[in-house]
Amino acid sequence: MASVELRNIRKTYGKVEAVREVSLEVADRELVVFVGPSGCGKSTLLRMIAGLEEISGGELYIGGKLMNKVPAADRGIAMVFQSYALYPHMTVAENMGFALKMMGVGRAEVEAKVREAARVLQLEGLLDRKPKQLSGGQRQRVAIGRAITRSPSVFLFDEPLSNLDADLRAQMRIEIARLHDELKTTMIYVTHDQVEAMTLADRIVVLNDGVVEQHGKPLELYQSPANRFVAGFLGQPKINIIPATVIRGPAGSTLSLGKGSVVIPGPAAANLADGERVEVGLRPDALSVGTGPGFEAKVVVAERLGSTTLLHVQAKGLDQLLTIETKGAEAPEVGNDTLVSVDPAGMHLFAADGGRI
Ligand code: ADP
Repeated sequence: MASVELRNIRKTYGKVEAVREVSLEVADRELVVFVGPSGCGKSTLLRMIAGLEEISGGELYIGGKLMNKVPAADRGIAMVFQSYALYPHMTVAENMGFALKMMGVGRAEVEAKVREAARVLQLEGLLDRKPKQLSGGQRQRVAIGRAITRSPSVFLFDEPLSNLDADLRAQMRIEIARLHDELKTTMIYVTHDQVEAMTLADRIVVLNDGVVEQHGKPLELYQSPANRFVAGFLGQPKINIIPATVIRGPAGSTLSLGKGSVVIPGPAAANLADGERVEVGLRPDALSVGTGPGFEAKVVVAERLGSTTLLHVQAKGLDQLLTIETKGAEAPEVGNDTLVSVDPAGMHLFAADGGRI
């Protein structure tokens, strides 16, 4: 068990600043997910924690001990990669016990640890198989098992599910969540997939261009994104972000969206000036059709998914389509005009620099 602390961590490759001044504390037993678009620096950050990359600046502590110069093997961590890298000529049991054997751990202890890891991962029936006799998901479970047998104080996962198909990813996601519950060990998990981040994390760290944009519980980030980037990155289907102008009147403030307008909720309106240009973020489930008051739009595409329908609508005067998520299959037909109304509680306002208003 261990906490992980990053203090002003930086990484430069020549002139490229891959990670800039990241400071963060991961509590003992916490499952923290680093998420962000490709190239944002999340793998570099993880590899510095693992000891696979030199740290250019700042300090890294694991379990309260400074780790900057400690070799990877002595950091008490185990890492699971996207590629399983199993030894093809060894059985599942041999693969899982190999590192311990190399460390000189006695045979009985290796066997006990392999048996325990196999139990946790439901691999008991497969211990004598070779990797080529396993499915992709089973191979990744063996790679995780290999990490478990080493009883690390911190697990590091680098996009471990990226090679699996959608069904298996969903299944393995649940297994990793269950594993975290059972092992009660600190885990840091890197992914570019915001669904994985939302569903797995105790806390999400959103990275962009080498800096932390925001960190917090998944729903906190979803409900109160600190800026336009976080709002746009988390949430499926994606949030609608629309340019708008503030109109202050005696009866309250509204936003003009194309030819339509929506009322700004009281607290947010207080900070806005008449004529101010802002961007409004509206999650698809904060929009609904057919009930007023609202603005007019034409349905361009309807994706009927069964329990929900995604409507892509063209509002008058806006040159972008808006996505609306409605419950059930009942929804206006393509080509029809409809009234779109906004749940003010689901409205996010951003200034020109992208910060939340
Ligand atoms: P992510 O994991 O978020 O996709 P990375 O951490 O792999 O991003 O990379 C962050 C940035 O650092 C990228 O701009 C990438 O091109 C750069 N980078 C990563 N590794 C190297 C390297 N060995 N040499 C030079 N630049 C690198």
